[in-house]
Amino acid sequence: MKVIFLMGPIASGKGTQADILAKKFGFFHFETSKFLEANFKKPELAKEKEKFDSGQWNDPSWVAGIVCKEAGKLVDEGREVIFSGSPRTVEEAILIIPCFEDKIGKENILFLNIDLSEQESVKRSLARRICKANRHPIPGFPEFQKLTACPEDGSELIRRSLDKPEIISRRYQEHLNRTVPIFDFLKNHGYSILEINGEQSIEKVSGDILNNLSFRHDQYQNAAGN
Ligand SMILES: [Zn+2]
Repeated sequence: MKVIFLMGPIASGKGTQADILAKKFGFFHFETSKFLEANFKKPELAKEKEKFDSGQWNDPSWVAGIVCKEAGKLVDEGREVIFSGSPRTVEEAILIIPCFEDKIGKENILFLNIDLSEQESVKRSLARRICKANRHPIPGFPEFQKLTACPEDGSELIRRSLDKPEIISRRYQEHLNRTVPIFDFLKNHGYSILEINGEQSIEKVSGDILNNLSFRHDQYQNAAGN
C-alpha cells in the first residue's frame, strides 16, 4: 500500500501526472477541490464556499478533516491514493500526514515535487485552455497549441478568466510562501522529497516520475514493454 503526494506550482502538470499514474497503477487520484465542492451544498459551509469561490484559503482544519475522512476511507478499503492538490500549507500537512502514517506507516508515504519556474508557470497558464461544453482541460504545452476544438466533444476552446499573468504570478508566489515550507517540515520529520524537473514534455516528466518510483520498477518495466 502506498500513498503519494504530488506537489508543484500552478501549471506544473501535477494533475495530468497523477492521472497517468492512476491509470497505470490503479491509484485513486484524489482531487481535493472536488471533495470540498461536494460539501458546499451544506448551508453551514457558506463561509468556506465563499472563500473557495473567490480563491482564498480555506480553513486548514476543515480541509484536513475532509481529506482524512474521504481519502482515509479509500485507504481503509485497500485503495492506493495519489494526491495532486494536498497538502497546500504546513498547517494542513501537520493535520493530514499523520492520518496516513497511522494507516500505512511512514515508509509507504511518498512525496514528489514537480519543479517549475515562475516564468514557465505563467507562460503555460496563459497558453492553456478549456472547452466550452464540458470544461475539459487543454494543457498549455506546445503539442496542444494547434488544437482548435475539444478532442473529446468537438466544442470550442476558450481561456479561463483566472488565467491572467498577474493572477498566475500571485498564485506562484503564494505557492512559494505557503506550500514550499512544507518541504522543510517534511525533511525535519524524516521524509525525503523526490524532485522532478517539470520543464520538460508531459511524457518526459512522466518517465522521470516512473523511474523514481523504485517500488514500482517491475510493474513499470512491464507497462513499458506493453
Ligand atoms: Zn470537451
